[in-house]
Amino acid sequence: MTTTETENERGAIKELETKCLHLPHDEERRRYDATFGAISYPIFQTAAFEHPGVRADYQPGQDHISLSSGHNYTRESNPTRDHLEKLIAQLENGETALAMSSGMAAITLLLNHFRSGDQIIVDSDLYGGSIRLFAEYGERYGIKFTRCDLTKDDPSAVATDRFKAIYFETPTNPMTHVVDIEKYAKFAHDRGALCVVDNTFLSPYFQNPLDWGADVVVHSGTKFLSGHHDTIAGFLVVRDRALGDELKLLSTTVGSALAPFDAWLVLRGVRTLSVRLDRAQENAFKIVEALQKQPHVTRVFYPGIESSPGYAIMKKQARGFGAMISFETDTKERAISTLTKVKTIVFAESLGGVESLITYPIAQTHASVPPDVLDANGLTDRILRLSVGIEGASDLIADLDQALNS
Ligand SMILES: *Cc1c(COP(=O)(O)O)cnc(C)c1O
Repeated sequence: MTTTETENERGAIKELETKCLHLPHDEERRRYDATFGAISYPIFQTAAFEHPGVRADYQPGQDHISLSSGHNYTRESNPTRDHLEKLIAQLENGETALAMSSGMAAITLLLNHFRSGDQIIVDSDLYGGSIRLFAEYGERYGIKFTRCDLTKDDPSAVATDRFKAIYFETPTNPMTHVVDIEKYAKFAHDRGALCVVDNTFLSPYFQNPLDWGADVVVHSGTKFLSGHHDTIAGFLVVRDRALGDELKLLSTTVGSALAPFDAWLVLRGVRTLSVRLDRAQENAFKIVEALQKQPHVTRVFYPGIESSPGYAIMKKQARGFGAMISFETDTKERAISTLTKVKTIVFAESLGGVESLITYPIAQTHASVPPDVLDANGLTDRILRLSVGIEGASDLIADLDQALNS
């Protein structure tokens, strides 16, 4: 075998498990040139980069980046962050990925793309922070956010001539509603609008919205991507280069990109994304089965339940069902006492990490959501949300049992 053949073979990355660890060969080679062959990509903890000189063909008015060795200032770009962005773009089959300081920073950056008077149709069941952000931006900057339950209502009834984007999560937080990406990407494109999907709950390991026509993927990198409850991060991934360039310039302008050390933490987390998610999902199925037999649990929400309304769409657009479960207890008192009685599972507000966490959405993630929206989404004071980690399943089941029964 010639060297070229070997290189090509190594460059052809097809499987997601490999994509979590390696970039194509030419990218890798550049990486090794810059890092002495370090296996773990180094943290370039620097604010600025030395310039080798001024280019001979420099003309006044040119972007000063043309003077530098590729990097200029970490608000604009940084090798550690760039490496992470390439890896996330690869995992989501996107053209450009931007690593931001949080999921909310990523969503806020995207909102800068729109103008006062533009309409964004948003699904009614969303992460509480997104609902709050949209309410604030709607009121302060005149972007018109129109809520629509995309699992049952037709958004064409509410689309105006300033309709610019449709925004949803699938599965949703916390009710695990499933939204058909292909259907709403087409709906948006037919009207010259963008389709934006928050893919936090499944991560690119289980779902790639861009493959189904979405234009922008949003991630809270705090969750499954970093996976260890130790950093806050967010991502935007886009298909269109021009939109990517626009968002990149906005990111440089507003200054909300991810810091090098945090980028490195996410890089470390992404390496084990596939094994963590396989294990967490395996645990989730066992827990769902146990919860369905639990006398004090009245309903279990998990898109992997065959009789659940979104099951067929999940089978179409996702490769797995994830590790997020919500369930309803028989009384509000039991929901509240369960939170303090769990011993292995931690009562805390986040998700997607190796440790299992339980939350009370109505008082935590969704505390700022108006009561009528909660009612419409069926989010009651008896619903708990469980982010399943990678512990032994029987320990988690025993822990839930003792907490629910005592
Ligand atoms: C957590 C979360 C966010 C916000 O991300 P942060 O990293 O906390 O800013 C957005 N969307 C979903 C679905 C989330 O779970």
